[in-house]
Amino acid sequence: MSKNEEKIVAFIGPPGAGKGTQASQLKSKKGYSVIIAGDILRAEAEKKTDFGIKLNNTMSSGKLVSDDIVIEIIGKAIDRNGGSSSVTIIDGFPRTIAQAQGLDEILSEKGMGLNKVFYFEVSDKTAVERNSNRRYCPLCKKVYNLRTDKPAKDGICGVCGARLVIREDDKPEVIMDRLKVYQEQTAPLLDYYRERGILTKVNGEKGKSELMKDLEYELND
Ligand code: AMP
Repeated sequence: MSKNEEKIVAFIGPPGAGKGTQASQLKSKKGYSVIIAGDILRAEAEKKTDFGIKLNNTMSSGKLVSDDIVIEIIGKAIDRNGGSSSVTIIDGFPRTIAQAQGLDEILSEKGMGLNKVFYFEVSDKTAVERNSNRRYCPLCKKVYNLRTDKPAKDGICGVCGARLVIREDDKPEVIMDRLKVYQEQTAPLLDYYRERGILTKVNGEKGKSELMKDLEYELND
């Protein structure tokens, strides 16, 4: 796959909008490459190095990790990915204007550009409900929802058998802070990309398969 044929798309939206779920589904169904910012940062945080401990503290509080760190980590992930499929989805990055500028630089050095940005729109009510019902497998990273996608055996991952956990940042007191951080630091990106003509809004209130169809349609044009 040559650089010019490879599409780079970003998923933006509040926590709980369904970005990660859709990215994983598109990876399994269509074979797209997926770079999930939160998963890469969580893997670093789990290493329990000084750096990992600091990352973990920031992430558990619902605040954003600093732009420099995230731009470097995602830049490396894009290098590793290196045109391995027709579409690469970057989920959860950029989350600030500085990160958007950082991404532009990373891509332009490779002679590439961001093709599309999908904005997953959901109400605060849905976002809070989805985050509070989320359970996460710390081992294989599969995500469950206690209302819409329950594990067959209570509290146990159906894929690898590990005990499911509640992410620190899905605890009720942190969810509201994450929504605030989204409004203040990430929402300004919508105008940034709208002005560039690459923003596509999708309805994050829709069910998993319906939303997936909308994304497939938009990605195939
Ligand atoms: P997520 O899994 O996308 O909800 O991200 C979980 C946490 O990881 C966020 O609340 C932030 O602390 C951190 N994080 C993920 N992506 C970014 C980013 N692009 N910039 C800064 N922090 C991030």
